[in-house]
Amino acid sequence: MIKKKWLLVVSLIALQFACAFSPVPAKTGSTPTPILEYHSIADKKDDIYCVDPVTFEEQVKTILQLGYQPITASELLEMWKSKQNTVSKPILLTFDDGYKDNYTTAFPILKKYQIKATVFLVTSSIGKPNFLSWDEIKEMQDSGLIDFESHTDTHSNLLKLKADQVRNEFVESKQILEQHLNKPVRILAYPYGYHRAYMFPMLKKAGYEMALSTNPGFAGQRQGMFAVRRITTTSDPLVHLR
Ligand SMILES: [Zn+2]
Repeated sequence: MIKKKWLLVVSLIALQFACAFSPVPAKTGSTPTPILEYHSIADKKDDIYCVDPVTFEEQVKTILQLGYQPITASELLEMWKSKQNTVSKPILLTFDDGYKDNYTTAFPILKKYQIKATVFLVTSSIGKPNFLSWDEIKEMQDSGLIDFESHTDTHSNLLKLKADQVRNEFVESKQILEQHLNKPVRILAYPYGYHRAYMFPMLKKAGYEMALSTNPGFAGQRQGMFAVRRITTTSDPLVHLR
């Protein structure tokens, strides 16, 4: 009996996991979209948040071979809002934190294959050692390939902040980015993925229309616009795409 119970529990967990990654069309009509979550592209074997450049380029090539069409987070938002799928097999490559190697290492590869991507910037880190400078951000933006969005102002654990501090993280990062980028910033990625439902109306009031979590799975509108799922790249993300 106990064994049967366990079998049921294991089956249900497996089913839940399978459903999270299953590219079944969402009820709203949006195409379930894999959003890959990268950080650094660098050769640091002991850091699971780093993908080495050779592996990254192989992943880019495989993504294209599988017929995926990389779009930016802004383009996904537009597709969802208009309910018009401008591409049939969308995928997003996202980079959190705004590391300098996104410019020195990832950007040349993205340009080589003409791949669109989105970088989520921590505004208080911009210009610091190991992080992107405004000049680098501008050059990447001007290429027409890279979309920049918010990863808050200080990359704090939002669950440990008071409500007004959380609000400031959303509002200030948006204002600083919009001043420098001359475009609306409508999308945010939560630091560490940590979020609560009380933050959704705050984001909306601040002018955001979408927020990305680290909950695993393909992204779809039925998850709600402020808890969109992503696929981590700490292990091979391509197993979910084939
Ligand atoms: Zn981060």
